[in-house]
Amino acid sequence: MDQETLKEFKGLLESQLEALLRDAGKTVSEMTDDQSNFPDPTDRASLESDRNFELRIRDRERKLIMKIRQALERIEHGTFGECECCEEPIGIERLRARPVTTLCIDCKTEQERKEKIG
Ligand SMILES: [Zn+2]
Repeated sequence: MDQETLKEFKGLLESQLEALLRDAGKTVSEMTDDQSNFPDPTDRASLESDRNFELRIRDRERKLIMKIRQALERIEHGTFGECECCEEPIGIERLRARPVTTLCIDCKTEQERKEKIG
């Protein structure tokens, strides 16, 4: 992959990471600010499930943040855009759609097939 394209992906990943970190910070402060009393048990229950929902979202965000950091590391190490399974280049269109991907479409399809059987 040429330097120009790498730079493009680096910028893309960095802005994604920034947006995620900003949102994650917002969620945390919203949760800690929220010390209000809910005398009605139904309100309390719905508040609890909202929190569970937020925590799940944050778990997914955390994983995505990790993936983006790993992708940025691959850019640094010059392995970005290589399939980690067969070491063939991952298609540029596939990378544009999902820059954190580590598998080419063939290996990904194979992996999903195995997961379905397993
Ligand atoms: Zn592959």
